[in-house]
Amino acid sequence: MLEVAQLAGTGRELTVINPRDGVPVTRVRCSSSDDVAAAVRAARSAAPGWARLAPADRAAALHAAAATIEASSVALAEIMSAEMGKPAGEARDTIAAGVGTLRQYAELGPVHRGRTLAGDPAAIDLMVYEPRGVVAVITPWNDPVAVACGLLGAALVTGNTVVHKPSERTPGTGSRLVELLAPHFPDGVLNLVNGDGPVGAALAAAPVDVVAHVGSTATGRTIAAACARTGAKALLENGGCDPLIVDADVDPQWAASQAALGAFANSGQICVSVERIYVHRSVAAPFLDALAAEADAWQPRLGPLVDRRLRDAVDEQVQQAVKAGASALRGGAAPAGPGAWYPPTVLADCTDDMAVMREETFGPVAPVAVVSSFEEALTRAADTTYGLAANVLTGSMSHAQRAWRSLPAGTVKINAVFGGAPGGAAHPRRSSGQGFGYGPELLDEMTATKVVHLSAPPTGW
Ligand code: NAD
Repeated sequence: MLEVAQLAGTGRELTVINPRDGVPVTRVRCSSSDDVAAAVRAARSAAPGWARLAPADRAAALHAAAATIEASSVALAEIMSAEMGKPAGEARDTIAAGVGTLRQYAELGPVHRGRTLAGDPAAIDLMVYEPRGVVAVITPWNDPVAVACGLLGAALVTGNTVVHKPSERTPGTGSRLVELLAPHFPDGVLNLVNGDGPVGAALAAAPVDVVAHVGSTATGRTIAAACARTGAKALLENGGCDPLIVDADVDPQWAASQAALGAFANSGQICVSVERIYVHRSVAAPFLDALAAEADAWQPRLGPLVDRRLRDAVDEQVQQAVKAGASALRGGAAPAGPGAWYPPTVLADCTDDMAVMREETFGPVAPVAVVSSFEEALTRAADTTYGLAANVLTGSMSHAQRAWRSLPAGTVKINAVFGGAPGGAAHPRRSSGQGFGYGPELLDEMTATKVVHLSAPPTGW
């Protein structure tokens, strides 16, 4: 078993269970409130020195850190895979994505620049970016390295110091990541605390300047409230309930393969997973047949869910839907035996009042409702408190145009559920969060803009 107690923490002990076989994999001691306060103090005292360094020097440290993660990616992927169940090859791919993100921010940091303004010709007027100070980076388990690398890279390269709290479901992965990164930076620049919600809450309430949280909507709301009390900026990338619209003119086989990819990849544990499907009546029958066949094809290559807690929540939504009239064409029940496995599940005859259609499920579930028109699909897709992303499969350019203009989501994907260009950064809407969590714009979020008006002193002093 991996012991990470020595890295951070003098409080309660948590054990992570391997979701494949139910065997304990990591034991971690949570950080106490004193540990959290000490980490924030260390970050605060390191902040002025780190902020004074030339951006190119900070970027060089980040490049070196990225190389270390790359060299350690196989071992890091094994820890990730054991803690949250992602197949090892996929875990290595996401670590490679994280390394790429660190390198992108290392390149972008030194060219992140302000502006000069056109004022009094005898004066100089500037808008300059400054680091915000201490950034709390609180992350989830579903893509633990790549998500953390984005926030850490952007925060550090812009001259902030960081206190990072990885998810209590992947503390070994998060601790190892920090252990590999931290030696590349001066003492106190990158600090780790470990633990679950109460530790995150203590960090969010601490005297930091930014709380960057990627995680559930419920947690994001409590963090926003904590930030309102302390004056810290809240940067929130939270949950979604992304719709997929299948228009009347698409090939139902292809649409089913897109739907399955969106709903089943990473066992449905992706923030922008397809969470609900609206299919046009004219293609509904062949689409559902093909989606059921896709579920059969996905079954053997799917990893488990992260743990039994999530599996129970997923299964509860599925059972509620079935009780309310949905029919499970595939899956729909947790298997007996160890681990947190759940089969790819296709639910037909779903209605919008079911939790599986209204809330984020975060499991390999594809709930389907039949619609009579594209208009109806758009209306029902837009009827949500979330606003992370939305997907549309259509051969009609006018339908595509109407969809991306009208859907209230940060990202709209037409005819491909994944695969957007690198560097895309969107504003999530309403319950899905606030601010740019990705892309070059994340550098703006991690910095504060100062306006400087610099006049010459009067002559004759
Ligand atoms: P979570 O919010 O439960 O946990 C995320 C982090 O927040 C963990 O480190 C956790 O310990 C911490 N936390 C929990 N309670 C806290 C509190 N009261 N105060 C401060 N911190 C607290 O989320 P999760 O279950 O780990 O992750 C899954 C969620 O993350 C899903 O909703 C998914 O959609 C979302 N997610 C969003 C994005 C995105 O970019 N929008 C990306 C990945 C995951």
